Amino acid sequence: MKNRSAHLAIPGLCLAAMLALVAFVLPVAAQSPETALINGKIITLDERSTVAEALAVRDGKIVAVGRSADVRNLAGPATRVIDLGGRTVIPGLIDSHMHAIRAALFYATEVNWIGTRSIPEAMERIATAARTARPGQWIIVAGGWTEQQFAEKRRPTQAELVAAAPDHPVYIQLFYAAALLSPSGFKALNITSDNDVPPRGKIERDAAGNPTGWINGDNPTITALFDKLPLPSFDESVAGTRQFFRELNRLGLTGISDPGGFNLTAASYLPLFRVWQDRELTVRVVFSLFAQRPGKELEDYQNLTQMLAMGFGDDMLRFNGIGENVTWGMYNNDSPTEAQKQQYYEVAKWAASRGMTLTQHWSNDASVHHLLDVFERVNRDTPIAGLRWSIAHLNDGSVASFQRMKALGVGWLMQDAMYFGGDGLIRTRGAEIAKHTPPIKTAMNIGIHVGGGTDAHRVMSYNPFVSLQWMIDGKTVAGTPTRDADELPSREEALRLYTQGSAWFTHDDGRRGALTAGRLADLAVLTKDFASVPTDEIGGLESLLTMVGGRIVYAAGLFAALEEKAGR
Ligand SMILES: [Zn+2]
Repeated sequence: MKNRSAHLAIPGLCLAAMLALVAFVLPVAAQSPETALINGKIITLDERSTVAEALAVRDGKIVAVGRSADVRNLAGPATRVIDLGGRTVIPGLIDSHMHAIRAALFYATEVNWIGTRSIPEAMERIATAARTARPGQWIIVAGGWTEQQFAEKRRPTQAELVAAAPDHPVYIQLFYAAALLSPSGFKALNITSDNDVPPRGKIERDAAGNPTGWINGDNPTITALFDKLPLPSFDESVAGTRQFFRELNRLGLTGISDPGGFNLTAASYLPLFRVWQDRELTVRVVFSLFAQRPGKELEDYQNLTQMLAMGFGDDMLRFNGIGENVTWGMYNNDSPTEAQKQQYYEVAKWAASRGMTLTQHWSNDASVHHLLDVFERVNRDTPIAGLRWSIAHLNDGSVASFQRMKALGVGWLMQDAMYFGGDGLIRTRGAEIAKHTPPIKTAMNIGIHVGGGTDAHRVMSYNPFVSLQWMIDGKTVAGTPTRDADELPSREEALRLYTQGSAWFTHDDGRRGALTAGRLADLAVLTKDFASVPTDEIGGLESLLTMVGGRIVYAAGLFAALEEKAGR
């Protein structure tokens, strides 16, 4: 429990301040609040780490925070008063780097293995999906799992797939490194030899030369393979979007920042736009544009943004610039040529001149100087400090790189890739490196902006509580400790990164990420107390009531009847 924040353990720390707040806000809120939450343990994450008992909401915003008796006094006859029974409330969680738009498109037609602990459990999900699927319909698991999560510590076999879903083609993706197909899957995609597998892909064979069902490859291989699968219909994607965002609400998420991704085109955004138009979005979505055609990146951005100014949208859906792939030449390329850097410079300079935010995927610290050189060159003409640019991933980020980022005002989007990948990192690069991968506290101490997140759903689970637990204890899915104590943030620090830390990247700090008067009423009432539950139970937390802009978008258990139907 040594990481538990002292502040979180002291309820009622700032009672005087809270009383003053209630007294001040009352005349402003001339009308009574719509909703009052009382008798709770409200982790406000204000500057003084106040833990309050109650808060009141009106017109989508928090209008008062304080003691239960005072907030109750604000209530009028029409105020909905919800007794929290001592439960803990946190600001709504924000994943600052989740491929949520793509995950949502496929959510109604895909199976996921998130949280499964054994191969039979994973196969049971396949079998369950097969029972309700149309004859011949594909069963797809598009990533979000690792063999490390299974008791067997191995990948499933083709025979196991066939046993689970004998009458359906099955596609199982492992990160962007491999895919397992059932024999009917191979048949449906007309794959009989390596020549039928997209660039650099290879059919795996056992010692006797027989195909195992696995196809090994890289990012382009797996992306091209996935593109051969049938797409869900528009209606299925709209349904998937609603369902996926409700699933995120179940886990206390109220916001995501989406960096585009493979297999996404402009048309892929239409189901999301439909849900937004229908006022059925239950998660605030901020999105950036991923590079489209190689060599034509700038032209594509110029066309796509002619009617899409930086910041265009509203509080539920907003455009936030370009990335995480800005140009293909600088994407997963540790040794870019001068021409590739020049092309990137031209796009980045254009973005800066338009006041756009830019986010860039970069994996290795050893090569990130190429990117920082370009950022610094742009910055000499057009200061970028106010534009909230960021670098995503960079799990082995060095002090020198973080200092260059700080000087530029560039933030770091940090995810729990090592929750799945930590055991592999120890095997390939040693335990010493894993002790500070990623260097969360180092970055915080240097003072750069850090956002929490997952990079879900193909490479990681979207569960924010799993990510928070991993931030706090540094243990992988297999239970292996990795980071040193000096790279483990406290509970409160981790929670701040996942709320106001993330909000900075979408220009929403000051509006989201804390429960104080004047901020958007985005919050989650938890199943257990985040501040005192044993660390290894944090990953199992869920929300019992999730509020976005004052609306109860998700409710369960004793609060279930309070959930408000979406729509106009
Ligand atoms: Zn990325």
